[in-house]
Amino acid sequence: MIKLATIIGARPQFIKAAALSRKIAENNNINEIIIHTGQHFDTNMSDIFFDEMNIPKPNYNLNINGLNHGAMTGQMLQKIEEILIIEKPDWILVYGDTNSTIAGALAAKKLHIKVAHVEAGLRSFNMDMPEEINRILTDRISDILFCPTYTAVKNLLNEGYDNIKCKIAKSGDIMQDAAIFYSKKEQKPKINLPKEFILATIHRAENTDNKKRLSEIFTALNQIAKETNIIIPLHPRTAKIIKNSEFQTQNLTIIEPVGYLEMVYMLNRCKMVMTDSGGLQKEAFFFKKPCITLRNETEWIELIKNNFNQIAGADKNKIINTYKNHKFNTNFNINLYGNGKAAENIINQLIKYN
Ligand code: UDP
Repeated sequence: MIKLATIIGARPQFIKAAALSRKIAENNNINEIIIHTGQHFDTNMSDIFFDEMNIPKPNYNLNINGLNHGAMTGQMLQKIEEILIIEKPDWILVYGDTNSTIAGALAAKKLHIKVAHVEAGLRSFNMDMPEEINRILTDRISDILFCPTYTAVKNLLNEGYDNIKCKIAKSGDIMQDAAIFYSKKEQKPKINLPKEFILATIHRAENTDNKKRLSEIFTALNQIAKETNIIIPLHPRTAKIIKNSEFQTQNLTIIEPVGYLEMVYMLNRCKMVMTDSGGLQKEAFFFKKPCITLRNETEWIELIKNNFNQIAGADKNKIINTYKNHKFNTNFNINLYGNGKAAENIINQLIKYN
C-alpha cells in the first residue's frame, strides 16, 4: 500500500484534486491524506469546491494565508514538514505553480520523501511571474514529473532533464478529466444569464499589481460590453483593488466567484472567454470556445499555434481589435491534452515507480 500526501491550497488545485483524488479513492493500492495549506480560504474560493465536487475533507488545514510570498511559503514549509514527519508518506503530490506547490515539494524532498509534480514542465519563460519561479523549482526537485502536454516534456528536455535522476511521464491534462466528469453535473448560477455573453476572469498578479495594465484591461472589457454582455466572476484580490479606484466597470456584470459546476454551466453557454487564468484558457478549448488571453505570454502555446487562443496582453486597443477582427479556428476536433484519462495514468505511474 502506497501512502500519498497530497498538498493543495488554491482554487485550481481543488479542481485538479477533485478529478485525481476521486480516482485515488477507488484504488486499493493508494492511501491518500490531504493537506490544505489554507492559501485560498473564502467559502467561494475553497469550501464550495469541496462541497460541490465531493473532494475528500482535508486531514489537515494549515490556515496560512494573506501573507507576503516569503512569510507564506516559509510558514507552509514549517507546518508541512511537521506533518510529514508524523505521517511519513511514501510520496507527496503537488499541483501546478503556487506557494503551496513549492513549499510542499521542498518540505518533502529534504525529508527524502518522493515528490510527484502534476502539471510539470510548463513554462511561460517570464521569470517575473511568481508562478514561473515556483514551477521551475518544483520541477527540479521532483521524482516524477507528470507533464500535461508534449510541449511540457520538450521544455524539460531542453533544460537537460534527461540527465537528471527523475521520471518524466506524459500523463495528459488532469483538468480535462475534471471538465469531462463535472460538465455532466453543471449547475445554473444564481444570476440570470443573457442569451449571448463573454465569460471573463482576471486575477494574475502581473495584472492586479500593475494599475496601468489593470486599467487598460477593464477599459477594453467595459467598451466591448457596450455591445456584448461580459460576465466576470471576480477573484477577491481583483475585487479589492478595483473597489476604491476609478476603473471603468459600469457595463460589466461583475459577480462573486462561483463554484466549478456554475463555471462549467457558463463555459457551456458563453460565446467566448477572456482571461488571464491558466486553467480557463484550456477550459475554453475543452468547451469549444475561442479565448483571448489577457497576458503577454502563455504556457499553453498549442492553443496559440492552433489559433484557438490569441494573446492580447493588457493593451486596450489590442484587446478590442482582437475581439472585433480576429478569426479564430473553430474546428476543435483535435486532441491537445490527452483523452481525459490523466488520473488513471498518474495513478498507474505512481504505483509502477513506488
Ligand atoms: N473558476 C471557478 N470559479 C470562478 C473562476 C474560476 O471555478 O469564479 C475555475 C476555472 O473554471 C478553472 C480554475 O478556477 O478551473 C482556474 O483557476 P484560477 O484562474 O484561479 O487559476 P489559474 O488556472 O490561473 O492557476
